[in-house]
Amino acid sequence: MLIKLANLCYDYPNTRGLDHLSLTIDAGEFVCLMGPNGSGKSTLLRILSGLASPKSGEYQLHGQAVTAAYLTDAQQRQQLHQKIGMVFQNTDVQLFNTSVAEEVAFGPRQLGLSASAIEQRVNDCLQLTACEDLRDRVPYQLSGGEKKRVALASVLALNPEILLLDEPLNGLTIAAQRQMLTLLQRLQAAGKTIIMASHNFQQVQTVGQRFIIFNRLHQLDADMSQADLQRQ
Ligand code: ADP
Ligand code: ADP
Repeated sequence: MLIKLANLCYDYPNTRGLDHLSLTIDAGEFVCLMGPNGSGKSTLLRILSGLASPKSGEYQLHGQAVTAAYLTDAQQRQQLHQKIGMVFQNTDVQLFNTSVAEEVAFGPRQLGLSASAIEQRVNDCLQLTACEDLRDRVPYQLSGGEKKRVALASVLALNPEILLLDEPLNGLTIAAQRQMLTLLQRLQAAGKTIIMASHNFQQVQTVGQRFIIFNRLHQLDADMSQADLQRQ
């Protein structure tokens, strides 16, 4: 078991973001978190990525508890980020370099890799995401679909085993959606675990293998709040 969540709760100042969420995910799964806006999908992704800590409940990764104390340790946080990479819903918050190649090189450089190893990773990740032609472009000026692919390339450059994607198809043309889904399937085939949030079942039904449906939890009885739909 790769990820284990038990009775996770998360509160915002005026709202409950997650209410007693329990769930396990195995290595290599392609999981779609489904549900309407405001049902807690982004909150869960933020907890999984270590950007937020649950108010109560347990999050284990490879059997190791990811606690608030764990996340305050810079070294452990860096280790977590090497295991789990996240493509944000708004890619503008994660694209800040002056060229696409620099954007993708940023993570590996933080790891202290050699110049040739960084170059290799940048080339591999740009190729994988069909971003080679964009390498000298300014990330900020790209189209929505291009930004998503560059954000994914920069996350892949850290070679994480788990990929989190928050509404990766939002705002993309049909062709760009198809390209993104094909890419994600290829990454799963290469051994990555994919966890993707989407509010649109039609968009993701062909690729997802497991669909976890979020309701508006805070309005429901906790026991009734989670339906876990297994396709296979
Ligand atoms: P989803 O990703 O499914 O749209 P979220 O995880 O963003 O859902 O939101 C879950 C609940 O938490 C919603 O009721 C939402 O309004 C609330 N929420 C999310 N982010 C914040 C925030 N920064 N401050 C206050 N409430 C928030
Ligand atoms: P999409 O159909 O994927 O949304 P767009 O119509 O946004 O694509 O963009 C078409 C082309 O114009 C892309 O190659 C993109 O890189 C380029 N482009 C989009 N926005 C800008 C911008 N603000 N500055 C420079 N080039 C841009």
